Amino acid sequence: MKLLTRISELPPALRASISDEERIFIESLEARNLLPFAVTEFYASLSGTDPLDPIRRQCIPSPHEGLRLPLELDDPLGEERYPAAPRLVHQYYDRVLLLAHGTCAGYCRHCFRRVWTSGLRGFVTDRELDAIQAYLGQHPEVQEVLVSGGDPLMGSDERLRALFVRLRQGRPGILLRLGSRVPVMAPERITDALVHLFQEFRPLRLVLHLNHPRELAPPVVQALGSLVSSGIPVHTQTVLLRGVNDSVAVLAELFRSCLTLGLSPYYLFQGDLAPGTAHFRVPLRRALELYRQLGLQISGLALPKFALDLPGGGGKVHLHENSIEDEYVDPSGQRLYRIRGRDGNLWSYPAED
Ligand SMILES: *Cc1c(COP(=O)(O)O)cnc(C)c1O
Repeated sequence: MKLLTRISELPPALRASISDEERIFIESLEARNLLPFAVTEFYASLSGTDPLDPIRRQCIPSPHEGLRLPLELDDPLGEERYPAAPRLVHQYYDRVLLLAHGTCAGYCRHCFRRVWTSGLRGFVTDRELDAIQAYLGQHPEVQEVLVSGGDPLMGSDERLRALFVRLRQGRPGILLRLGSRVPVMAPERITDALVHLFQEFRPLRLVLHLNHPRELAPPVVQALGSLVSSGIPVHTQTVLLRGVNDSVAVLAELFRSCLTLGLSPYYLFQGDLAPGTAHFRVPLRRALELYRQLGLQISGLALPKFALDLPGGGGKVHLHENSIEDEYVDPSGQRLYRIRGRDGNLWSYPAED
């Protein structure tokens, strides 16, 4: 997979579309300790040159990322509140999240785990796996490991195999759920050997991060086809992103295409309160209205759950049109919605315009 990390490496038309303001911002990312710039050659080839192009918006850093709002959090999901072992988050009863790899094939400009991924950690080590394996052994209630990151498919086949072997050693049959954007960023990574590896370690499911119908370009469709036809269930998760997919027509096309390809739309996420991502967030009331209209138009099979991670560790809630219970203004003047969490308590989420 070919990774581009400099403007000068971009395809000529895309390179020519980079404004001076963007160039200065991109060149400052490292010094400011912000999410690095990296895009695969393949994903860059899908991008148009208009600054409003939905692919370009997801891969070319915008100076808006330099604006951090007071309500934005380094750890928007509160994952650090549920540590189980190194890289392991145990928040929900029967499943754990494993941050198996530190890096990604390319950095999505809306990344919610950007503080973690900016740390450029590598693949989970043997020593870390000792602790992870011990934890799984002591927690028989855990039936599923979400292998995420970063992107786990940045690891070689050998490392992935070693990881899967270790996870299954103490707990034969534990379900593996891999979260990845690699089939979209670098479809050539989905080789026959990788597909065979997945088959060998069933039960194994892939959850694909997919945001726009144009990401389903022919090489991506081919890669996904080889997974699906090999019996690997593929689900999708989509982030609702302003200027990328915040219309009923785009989302309907995306989710219908998923069904056609044999993928199951699983989650549509409200944007998290990650630093420097305000320009991507859709105001929650508007998001709920979009989702309501989407539900009136498309098959139930094509409609993912619309979910919000309550900031500060409240967990995921599945939203519907009446999810906002009430609205108030805090002492700083910030308007907030009250939403009921899985724990039955009311949590807050900011009202943005
Ligand atoms: C989203 C998430 C899960 C998985 O939740 P599901 O409801 O099974 O999709 C597990 N652990 C953490 C920490 C999560 O954020």
